[in-house]
Amino acid sequence: MRLRLYAAAGGIAAILYTHQWIELPEIAMQVKHVVLKKGQCSSCGCWVKAQLPKEYQTGYGPRFSALVAELSGIQGSVGRP
Ligand SMILES: [Zn+2]
Repeated sequence: MRLRLYAAAGGIAAILYTHQWIELPEIAMQVKHVVLKKGQCSSCGCWVKAQLPKEYQTGYGPRFSALVAELSGIQGSVGRP
């Protein structure tokens, strides 16, 4: 406000720097529960267990993993001389 008054009074106002403030839109997380079942064979009595599908083995989806990787990179570059 002071700069505007200064400029209005005939002074010169110039941009010092442009400060950026970045925010993400609110994100609703998607959480899937993959229930693995086991069953007993009626012939021999052995137990058979379901296998977790490959895409769920890490516990994190590709977009979430990419975000974590990106943030890790940013964290690594901040504060370095
Ligand atoms: Zn069997």
